[in-house]
Amino acid sequence: MRAVRNTEHGIQVLEVPEPEGDGPIVYVRAGSICGSDLHMVNFGPIEFTLGHEVAGVLEDGTRVAVDPASGCGTCDQCARGATHLCRNGFEHLLGVGAHGGFASAVAVPGHKLVTLPESLRIEDACLVEPIGVAVHSVRLSGMGGGERVAVVGAGSIGLAAVAAARPLADEVGITARHDHQIAAGERLGAHAATGEYDVVFEAAGTESALSTAAELCRPNGTIVFLSTHWEPVAIPSLAAMMKELGFQWSYCTSAHEGGHDLDDSAALLAADPEIANTLITHRFPLDDAAEAFRVAADRASGAIKVVLEP
Ligand SMILES: [Zn+2]
Ligand SMILES: [Zn+2]
Repeated sequence: MRAVRNTEHGIQVLEVPEPEGDGPIVYVRAGSICGSDLHMVNFGPIEFTLGHEVAGVLEDGTRVAVDPASGCGTCDQCARGATHLCRNGFEHLLGVGAHGGFASAVAVPGHKLVTLPESLRIEDACLVEPIGVAVHSVRLSGMGGGERVAVVGAGSIGLAAVAAARPLADEVGITARHDHQIAAGERLGAHAATGEYDVVFEAAGTESALSTAAELCRPNGTIVFLSTHWEPVAIPSLAAMMKELGFQWSYCTSAHEGGHDLDDSAALLAADPEIANTLITHRFPLDDAAEAFRVAADRASGAIKVVLEP
């Protein structure tokens, strides 16, 4: 079968053995490129097939999305359902420490599968994971409903935060670098941020984004980190202290008392097709993976989410 790997010659589609193992095999229909995929590629060749935002069908035809972070299943964090905080590293993380889903098929033994709601198109269901990450962060933010929410940064993860916060928030403000990002935010119900906000999602991962977040946050408000800080980022400590800001970190998705972030995400995507229509800007066949990665990395391309379709 075919699979996308980052080799010493860059992104290539290789002929590789079919996945084996006892667990379910997902025949992939759609996989979206994440900012972290673009970042990992810069580290050089990776022995695993890329792709952790994946939807497809099982042997029996069941339509599913995949939780890429199964965890080891034996540590204390996995035992309490927090597989995303597994003590045993990346070994079970699809597309990072195990073969991912930019391929004809992927083995997912032990991974949570999300059965797709009837009305969610499988071509769009690769967004269950990235939207789920935003749903997780909204849950951790402590929002109860009616808050003024701002999102700093309007790449795919910032726009995912808009989509996830919008149903609860009184209003959602957004800051963005590019016009097409503001337009996408507006399609999802946000507007250019102005004034003060109860909860601010930092979705850009830069020092300037963090200081903007601190400015936009009201006294005793909360900043939620949804971006990945690949390098340490200086915190605007004085401003944060003088407003007694709360900081909440957010990572991946998890089970919670009422279910799982990924099921909530699938329901949200099914209820509002405009989310996928807005976020997915490009689709490529798997064989054009190198071009898909190039477009996804090119900020001027207008790309938000780029999807590979095996
Ligand atoms: Zn991702
Ligand atoms: Zn574990």
